[in-house]
This record gives sequence, structure tokens and C-alpha cells, in this order.
Amino acid sequence: MSKKALIIGAGLGGLCTALRLCQYGYDVEIVEKHHQAGGRLNQFKKDGFTFDVGPSFFSMSYEFKEFFETCGIPISKLPLTPLDPVYSVHFAKDSKRYDIHRDLDKLAAEFKAIEPEFLENVKKYLKNAGKIFHDTEHKIIKKNFPTLASYALSMATVPWHHAPLMFRSMWTELGKYFKSEDVKVIFSLVAFFLGSTPFNTPAVYSLLNYTELIHDGYWQVEGGMYKITELIVDELKKHGVKFTYNTEIIGFEAKGNNVKNFTSSDGKKWSADVMVCNADAASFRGMVMEKPKYNTQKLNKMKWTLAPFTIYLGVQGKIPQLNHHNYFLGDNFKDYASDIFTTSISPDKPYYYVNMPSKSDPTCAPAGCENIFILCPVPDKRFKPDWSDSEQLSLNIINDLGQRIGIDLQANILTKTVWTPDEWEQKFNLYQGSGLGLAHGLDQIGALRPANKDEKYNNLYYVGASTTPGTGLPIVVISSNLVTQRIIKDNEAV
Ligand SMILES: Cc1cc2nc3c(=O)[nH]c(=O)nc-3n(C[C@H](O)[C@H](O)[C@H](O)COP(=O)(O)OP(=O)(O)OC[C@H]3O[C@@H](n4cnc5c(N)ncnc54)[C@H](O)[C@@H]3O)c2cc1C
Repeated sequence: MSKKALIIGAGLGGLCTALRLCQYGYDVEIVEKHHQAGGRLNQFKKDGFTFDVGPSFFSMSYEFKEFFETCGIPISKLPLTPLDPVYSVHFAKDSKRYDIHRDLDKLAAEFKAIEPEFLENVKKYLKNAGKIFHDTEHKIIKKNFPTLASYALSMATVPWHHAPLMFRSMWTELGKYFKSEDVKVIFSLVAFFLGSTPFNTPAVYSLLNYTELIHDGYWQVEGGMYKITELIVDELKKHGVKFTYNTEIIGFEAKGNNVKNFTSSDGKKWSADVMVCNADAASFRGMVMEKPKYNTQKLNKMKWTLAPFTIYLGVQGKIPQLNHHNYFLGDNFKDYASDIFTTSISPDKPYYYVNMPSKSDPTCAPAGCENIFILCPVPDKRFKPDWSDSEQLSLNIINDLGQRIGIDLQANILTKTVWTPDEWEQKFNLYQGSGLGLAHGLDQIGALRPANKDEKYNNLYYVGASTTPGTGLPIVVISSNLVTQRIIKDNEAV
């Protein structure tokens, strides 16, 4: 008889693990708090517009290809488009816009006036960043670490000449190659994805500049990011996987070193041979498994990524001034970056990211309209618990954007939805509203991140952004591979 697996959470991590386990003959059931699958990779429809709620692009597309191939889904079912330019960056001070191209000659032309030796220096910078990426991808990122010692051993195989990069900041590293403040600011934006600022993110993460510009670039999905979720859910249904929505797991019962069952808020008990938790691997350990190491005090001391403040707009009229992916920055980067993680006051001159999928996808907005997603990174609820000023912040952002692209955006809004960190927390159990989960400082990666196997219970595993290797769509796909390998290995041995 086939073994049964219960997956708690239908985010990308849960869905990919479910489908991988189906390949090994597991009988899989999924229980999810939200009313539909996807987790942060979700969607809603309103007033004729279709909005992706979170991710709008990804790197390392080959991780999706590997996953689809392994699970027998033709990759042609997921049409991907490479981004070029990968994004545009708008500075407030002189209304300057830079288009960030993967073609380094074209990129050098963008920076000609401010960084005359850009081409030569960027090649050196990216060459080093590429070495770090290739020296760690298989040794650290795509590997299970059952013990601290196994992690230490793997770390010891990474060439020692990278060691200084652990101790200097990304900002300092960029300063060794580039003189212009604007170039340094642009290359350091990736630090915010990791949940930190370039001033305290270790320089090893310059590898992300390599992934965006040289290695595989950024990709988006034709027809919207939610296609990824829909495609995997369809495949899971073909395998007979049962989904139960609107159901939150809140407790458990154990027998010795095994979880006997989980309990949902309606009192129902859920049992299986193998349980995989796709809810946040740190906060679930604290809130549901009641582990002292993850009590509220300890969770609050951990480093978390910034929270999202997101605005979903349907706008009358076309806006050629906007690219697909755009960053709008102010002119006080250092002060803004040092304050943004810990302030309790909403920024009056916010920095934000704008995605306009309707530029190429006619299905997400009615004819003659634009679909605009705005993401403003804000402090999580530990620092700013009160979001009653959300309307004012959204108006600030919309007016700033309107001014900078030269249209009366406010007057042309047909539909508007705002999610503060409160909504992100309530909908998907994101701890204190943190958008990407646990941050990626050197003390919260590898074997130092909450593991993908429970410390006590032999049949409980974890997948997703706050376990190994970390956050972001392709990394979560890798997480599903790592946890599946671990489950299969453990169960072969039984
Ligand atoms: C605004 C935003 C923008 C982003 N943009 C990008 C991007 O452009 N590119 C990129 O690569 N990444 C991006 N990310 C990060 C990316 O979305 C995440 O890393 C990834 O989706 C995490 O997937 P997951 O499966 O780990 O978790 P989740 O998507 O959070 O899934 C976990 C699921 O578990 C459910 N759940 C939680 N607790 C319980 C419980 N107790 N019982 C039952 N169900 C439960 C939740 O409802 C959720 O559906 C973005 C994230 C946000 C918030």
C-alpha cells in the first residue's frame, strides 16, 4: 500500500513537494488556510482586472525546468519570457532613469556620463561574483545539512579566497569597483530581497548581481505568474491529490518521536505517514509545535525580511512611460536604508517597486487600461504594529508615482486594493507580516537556518522560504527537492 503524505500549506513549496512525492508513489493530501492554492504566489480578480498578489519575476529559471522535467510536465506549458531590460531605476533627484540591460555594452552606455570606466569594472566585479555563485551553488545552496558538522565540512570546501567577502559589506565591495553613488545604489538593491541593507549584507551576496545580469537573468510568465500555481495544481489533481481549503492547522498530538496527527481550527484531525509543513518553518515551530527555541521572544529576536505594503491598481488609459519592472528611489538612500527596517512611522517619501504586467499581457486588464502592482518595503509589525495610516501611505505613493511619470494617476484609478503587513500576516500566516520570511545573514543560512526536518519528530519535515536554502521562487523549488530527497532517503532506510 502506498504511503500517505500530508502537506500543510499550498504555497509553491508545498505544491512542488506534493508533486515530487507523487512521483515516488505517495498518496498526498494538502490542507491550506487560504481559500485557494499558491500562498504568496497567489492571484485575485476585481472589477475586470486580474492581479498577481506577490512575485512578478524570478531568476534561475532552470530550477523550474528541472522540476517540470522530473514531474513529467512539458515545460512548454509554462511560457517564460526573459526580461530585457531586466528593470528600470528612477532616481528622484534629477528625474534620471536608467534601464538595466543584460548586454553590458548597452548597460555601460546608460552609465557613460557618471561612470566612464563602467564596462571594464563591471566585468571584473561580475567575474568575481560569478565565481562565488558557482563555488557555492552545489556545495551550499543545493545541499541538505543533517548536522552542523556536515555544514562546516561543506563550507570548508568553498575556496578560502572568498572568505573576506563574508566580513565586508556589499556596499564596501561595490565601492572597490565603482565610484558613482547611483551605480552602487542600483547594484545594491538586491540586498533588500535578502531582508537587509547593502550596508550590513555580506559581500558574498554580490552573487545575486551575477544571477540577474550574466547567469540566467530574470524571467516572467506569459499570462501571469499565477499560471505556475494553476499548472501544478492541475497536475496534482491528475494524481488524485485532495485539497482542503479554508482550514488552518493549529495544534498537534505526538506519540513518542512521531507526530500522530495535526488538528485544524474546526477540530478535525489530520494524520499521515509523513507530514510536510509549508507554513513558515520558524514561526510554525513556535506557534503550533510550541518549541521553546522558537517562542515569541526568540522569534522576535531573529532577523526577518521587510514587510510588503502592496497596492493593486486598475487604471484607465495606457502608460508607455512605465516599463514592466521599475524601481522608484528617493535621494537619501543611506538614511532611508538605515531607518527603514526599524521605524514605526510610514515614510513620507517612500521608495517602491512598480510592476505593470498589462504592458505585454492583455488578459490582466480590460482594453485600454493598465494593471499596476506597487510594492513598498516597510518595517514588519514588531516595529510598526499600527497600519491605520495605510490610506495616507497609499496616496503618498500614488501621487509620487503620478508626478514622476507625468500623469494624474489618482484621477484615472478604476479599482484599488491595498494590503498592509496586517493582510499579509492574516492571509498567509507570515510572521509579523514579514514578506520573504527569515532573513539571510550568515547566522541564518545553511545548518543555522531552521532545518527541513524536525529536531524531535521523525515524520515531520519543512519546506519553503524560512527553511533551507532560503526565500524566492527558484530557491523554494530547490527547497522542495531537498526535502523530498530527505524524506525518500529516510523512508528507504526504514
Ligand atoms: C509581495 C511579495 C513579492 C515577492 N516577489 C518575488 C519575486 O518577484 N520573485 C521571487 O522569486 N520571489 C518573490 N517573493 C518571495 C516568494 O513569494 C516566496 O519566497 C515564495 O512564494 C514562498 O513560498 P512558500 O511555499 O515558502 O510559502 P507561502 O507562499 O507563504 O506558502 C505557505 C502556505 O501555507 C499556508 N499556511 C500557513 N500556515 C498554515 C497553517 N497553520 N495551516 C494551513 N495552512 C497554512 C499559507 O496560507 C500559504 O498558502 C515575493 C514575496 C512577496 C510577499
